[in-house]
Amino acid sequence: MSTVADNINVGQKPEGLEGTGFFATRLEQVVGLARKNSIWPLPFATSCCGIEFMATMGAHYDLARFGSERLSFSPRQADLLMVMGTIAKKMGPVLKQVYEQMAEPRWVLSVGACASSGGIFDTYSVLQGIDRIIPVDVYVPGCPPRPEQIIDGVMKIQALVESESLRRRDSKEYKAMLNTYGIE
Ligand code: SF4
Repeated sequence: MSTVADNINVGQKPEGLEGTGFFATRLEQVVGLARKNSIWPLPFATSCCGIEFMATMGAHYDLARFGSERLSFSPRQADLLMVMGTIAKKMGPVLKQVYEQMAEPRWVLSVGACASSGGIFDTYSVLQGIDRIIPVDVYVPGCPPRPEQIIDGVMKIQALVESESLRRRDSKEYKAMLNTYGIE
């Protein structure tokens, strides 16, 4: 009979050299492991997808299990911007300012059809996807996406965070990509 202890997954250590009393690995892998398990999300919720996020944070789905318990409503202390809901064009500059106030490294999760593409609101007033104003790392489909899908999106972000090179943010390609959004 399996016990609770049998079902607990412990985080895997990175690849490295191991012997009695020592373990050596690459700095990038250790930093990636620490970052992956201590993401501080900033919820930017404007409409119904935000309600799904509330369920995701509740006791049943419990996003805190993924090291994301501490939500930040200050961009300066957050590293994952979660955009959830319809973004009107008027709201665009506000969203961009929030993104710019976050320090590197920062990641963006676009939750739901509206944030990702404007959704059903193909109108003059709605932004047809937040990637028109800020770069997006992972898109979560659905209208609305269920909490499981939001958790899946966070796990995809975690996989990205874990494998990201420490030098990526200093690369010419990354800076050129930000420049296409008018961000220095
Ligand atoms: S994707 Fe659907 S559920 Fe989410 S904000 Fe848009 S209309 Fe609401």
